[in-house]
Amino acid sequence: LFNHLETMPGDPIFGLMSQYAKDPAEFKASLTIGVYRDEDGKPWVLPTVKKVEKMIAEDVATNHEYLPMEGLGAFVESARDLLFGNPSPDLTSRIGSLQTISGTGAVHLGARFLNDSLQPKRIWVSDPTWGNHHAIFDIAAPDVEQKMYPYYDAATCSLNFSGMMSTLEEQAQPGDLILLHACAHNPTGIDPTKDQWKQIADLCERKHLFPFFDSAYQGFASGDVDEDAWAVRHFVSRNTLELVVAQSFSKNFGLYGQRVGAFHIVTSSQEARDKALSHLIYLQRAEISNPPVYGARIVAFILQNASLRREWEQDLLIMSGRIKTMRAALFGELQNLNTPGNWQHIVDQNGMFSYTGLSEKQVLALRKEHIYLLTSGRASISGLNGENVALVAKAIDKVVRE
Ligand code: PMP
Repeated sequence: LFNHLETMPGDPIFGLMSQYAKDPAEFKASLTIGVYRDEDGKPWVLPTVKKVEKMIAEDVATNHEYLPMEGLGAFVESARDLLFGNPSPDLTSRIGSLQTISGTGAVHLGARFLNDSLQPKRIWVSDPTWGNHHAIFDIAAPDVEQKMYPYYDAATCSLNFSGMMSTLEEQAQPGDLILLHACAHNPTGIDPTKDQWKQIADLCERKHLFPFFDSAYQGFASGDVDEDAWAVRHFVSRNTLELVVAQSFSKNFGLYGQRVGAFHIVTSSQEARDKALSHLIYLQRAEISNPPVYGARIVAFILQNASLRREWEQDLLIMSGRIKTMRAALFGELQNLNTPGNWQHIVDQNGMFSYTGLSEKQVLALRKEHIYLLTSGRASISGLNGENVALVAKAIDKVVRE
């Protein structure tokens, strides 16, 4: 019955990870997947998370009952307040929020909900964007045509802001969706400046575009949760735009496998919020019934306790600080080697990734040196550490000169 099926391509990132795992070389470096690694190249359970896990384990009142369909109340409220910065009562009454299967599930739920409710003709996504955005919209919003707006300027390894704005100005139509990365753009590591964000918000207003924010790195990028939420909060503060946000807690709490996330919709009235939320809950019921409880409990516990929250903010600084240190170290090594090219963008880019500007040919040559990054040239900076950064730089120097 299934012989007619064509084999689907595997995910390139997970494919590379298994290639890396099988590589028997003594020296090897994995700069592929977007997960945080500590200075020893190991996964890092945040100390605050570890502490709260113990408290939860010892709490006799803890059980494994179903959550409500919209998720754990304490988590959903904390997630909303973290993102929108303790919104006013009026704004709170216009925000509908529910817990999702991490950021991926939030994007999926949002795509499906908007496909049905707004029936947009197109969604504009950055060129390039997180690869899964395409797949999620393909399956969850099949009627919505995906269009790309210019984002990355390969010549300067920076933002092609004028290209982005002119394409949207000329081609986007009222009612189109626009997907925006709230901070730490994946895969480029390049974010608009505050002034540019204001111009993007102006454009959304003027052209009646509907913003769909993907916030997967709040606090992880700059180390400051408010700074990383600036763009979302700016759009909301204008009071002229309705929008949605998919929120992930994978990176900022290191809870990748627990699948902790939320979806938020900001509407113009409480009535619209209630109606939208009823549709989202209806979808949720059919898709997953109830979201998972464990990770949400951890996040709620931390965000609702002032002293634990301060400790978690320190954990965030450790992660973002180490990544910044590694950016500077790689840049420094390349400078010492006088590697041809300008590598300043490695330190200027933000968050988990660097779009290195290395060509596919150079990336493939690096694999022969047992260094793994995506063929697009995207490198996950947290795969670097004090032990391997000089060797990685040396290998980059070699392939650039070949
Ligand atoms: N959006 C973006 C831009 C991402 O980079 C990621 C993680 N790679 C996600 C969403 C979703 O991650 P998760 O499902 O683990 O929350």
